[in-house]
Amino acid sequence: MTKEEKAYDAIVLGAGAAGMFCAATAGQRGRRVLLLDHAGQPGKKILISGGGRCNFTNLHTAPDRYLAQNPHFAKSALSRYTPADFLALVESHGIAWHEKTLGQLFCDESAKQIVAMLLEECAKGGVDLQCGEAIRSVDHADGLFRVSHGDNTAQAPALVIATGGPSIPKMGATGFAYDLARQFGLKVVQPRPALVPLTLPAEDALFRDLSGVSTEVIARVNGKGGGKVAFREAALFTHRGLSGPAILQISSYWQRGDTITTQFLPDREEGWLKTLKRERPKAGLRKVLSEDLPDRLAEALCERLGLSGDLGNLSDKALAAAEARLARWPFVPNGSEGFAKAEVTAGGIDTSGLSSKTMEARKVPGLYAIGEAVDVTGWLGGYNFQWAWASARAAGLAL
Ligand SMILES: Cc1cc2nc3c(=O)[nH]c(=O)nc-3n(C[C@H](O)[C@H](O)[C@H](O)COP(=O)(O)OP(=O)(O)OC[C@H]3O[C@@H](n4cnc5c(N)ncnc54)[C@H](O)[C@@H]3O)c2cc1C
Repeated sequence: MTKEEKAYDAIVLGAGAAGMFCAATAGQRGRRVLLLDHAGQPGKKILISGGGRCNFTNLHTAPDRYLAQNPHFAKSALSRYTPADFLALVESHGIAWHEKTLGQLFCDESAKQIVAMLLEECAKGGVDLQCGEAIRSVDHADGLFRVSHGDNTAQAPALVIATGGPSIPKMGATGFAYDLARQFGLKVVQPRPALVPLTLPAEDALFRDLSGVSTEVIARVNGKGGGKVAFREAALFTHRGLSGPAILQISSYWQRGDTITTQFLPDREEGWLKTLKRERPKAGLRKVLSEDLPDRLAEALCERLGLSGDLGNLSDKALAAAEARLARWPFVPNGSEGFAKAEVTAGGIDTSGLSSKTMEARKVPGLYAIGEAVDVTGWLGGYNFQWAWASARAAGLAL
């Protein structure tokens, strides 16, 4: 052993949500843990999450709210560390929280409190946290992992990959986890941007001109990945295409060539336009639409429907066709805003090579992968952090 080489029981790469929680869990079980990050400070994504308030979990966490090639993989870890467990930890640190909507729990004050809590938990476990140094190499021989970082080398019989996915590279996110996984013979499911705004082609300029307009819709995707998934939330028109929670959610299921449909006026019952025609024949279609939709959107939809004038002058057939179109308005995005704007990365380290109980690689004893680096991707709304905590806990208890 060289002068600089230090021995640990486990080395955790990546001091994000999963890495910090895993290191704290193992440290508090008496393991000597080194936690490394190339960024100058830990938990940078936590700090910007949830608009600075960190949507740290979701009360409705369930395996069907995650995308993964193996939909069963996440079940074990999620059932053994639940939103209630994480909430108990948050409360034990005196952090005030609230439920915003749809089971999403946020800090009342600041995401900084979650980072401070994780650092405190790491300190309780005597974790050796070192930030701001590049990881130069990782080797494995004689049952030991050797990590060169900065001018130092550390060794341990266990190594945890917790370096996340490449979404938001300007924050220091990298595909390092995948390189490392491949180095050890693990497969990687093609990573792709998820929870990401979608872009619309030039022929949809009418909608791109609505930049800033938002309305509640039910978004669906017609394609292999979509199935029966539908999200009822706000959609937002942007100068490049579509965003807002409903679109971010459906983007995770979208593949190039798929059509997204948005159901405008989701509370209207079938036949509502024909009924209105009888009740208010002198009302114009645009006027009627703008009673429930932003004015500019109502105008754009009427223009695209090619219908103008009073409802009384429009045929029942034309109104039924308009209604059907409004209920399944098709958009064919020509792309997404990519990793630069994606809240998470779908795909990642293939779960077929990992134990769902411990996150350990089946063929490389001592190697673990957790958090976003793994091919498990949650819906918008606190699900991704819950996966980070649950997978980190599973590994931390096995180290
Ligand atoms: C803007 C934004 C808002 C979000 N809001 C929410 C939210 O409110 N709720 C929610 O559930 N999810 C949210 N997410 C997703 C959530 O942040 C991630 O799913 C979660 O942080 C994943 O945890 P992780 O520990 O696996 O990865 P990360 O938290 O990304 O941590 C990975 C760590 O590894 C380090 N690292 C990367 N490459 C290397 C390398 N080569 N060498 C050394 N270290 C490296 C990084 O610096 C980082 O500290 C948000 C994401 C973004 C981008």
